[in-house]
Amino acid sequence: MSLIVVGSMAFDAIETPFGKSDKIVGGAATYIAWSASNFTRPVKQISVVGGDFPKQELKMLEARGVLLEGVQVKEKEKSFFWSGRYHMDMNTRDTLETQLNVLGNFRPVVPDNYQDCEYLMLGNLAPSVQISVINQLKSKPKLVVMDTMNFWMDTAMKDLEKVIKKVDVLLVNDSEARQLSGQFSLVSAARAIMEMGPKYLIIKKGEHGALLFNDDKVFFAPALPLEVVFDPTGAGDTFAGGFIGHLASKKDISFETMKAGIIVGSAMASFCVEKFGTARLKELTRADIDNRIQMFRELTKFNIELSE
Ligand code: AMP
Repeated sequence: MSLIVVGSMAFDAIETPFGKSDKIVGGAATYIAWSASNFTRPVKQISVVGGDFPKQELKMLEARGVLLEGVQVKEKEKSFFWSGRYHMDMNTRDTLETQLNVLGNFRPVVPDNYQDCEYLMLGNLAPSVQISVINQLKSKPKLVVMDTMNFWMDTAMKDLEKVIKKVDVLLVNDSEARQLSGQFSLVSAARAIMEMGPKYLIIKKGEHGALLFNDDKVFFAPALPLEVVFDPTGAGDTFAGGFIGHLASKKDISFETMKAGIIVGSAMASFCVEKFGTARLKELTRADIDNRIQMFRELTKFNIELSE
């Protein structure tokens, strides 16, 4: 099986009520690759960076089994830059600045040895880029998962609708689900969004977990209650990487495996928020992940016997 990841690789500057980062490495595809490579390798990456992107970061990803043949390096240009400020609840944030830079005129090229793709993860970036990758694949992948955000709903809604039509699983957060559907109830929003194309919809609710919808079925995964949340940036992408990485490793796309996938995604996201940027993801061992998944089992396990 092989997994293609498409998305931004970037610099981020983050402010939380408790601290502030300098310009650090981030980007949707960066987080997805760090997360998914725990479960499946190689991860075949498609993105674009400027000459300012640290070569050392690219080397670390390669050492993890992330193929970078599809990552264009534009030496004379600047990498995508995003800055955001979290509110007191650490669940909501404002984008302070988005500088598209190299992402502004990115034309992705799918290398020949990526054509065996069975799992396609369309991470957050311009919908026109996401659709171009789908169109370059000679055979349809077994599963196409897509993430997006309000920025693209505000600036490229027409293109976004075209991609949404072509994907199997769409991932959005709760406010994006409401914006996309115009519905307040998440159940009504899910129904409306699934009518736009995807058979499955995942709605992320930050510290309140995630919902998986398919037809009339719904499954809920909690988020791990954590004492310290340092930086939520990338949690959604890390979730997506865990989700699709798990499905690819199981070679199965049934609803049951997707349920396990959203638990794996939630476990991975719970690590991401513990340090700034990708720092926590870089130090994880298999034992750390196994332990955390066990914590999710404990968190949701209960017996009920009602008396007569
Ligand atoms: P998340 O916290 O999972 O929503 O993802 C945050 C990551 O998304 C950051 O590392 C940003 O670099 C990246 N990002 C923010 N805005 C955009 C955008 N408009 N397009 C692509 N990537 C973005």
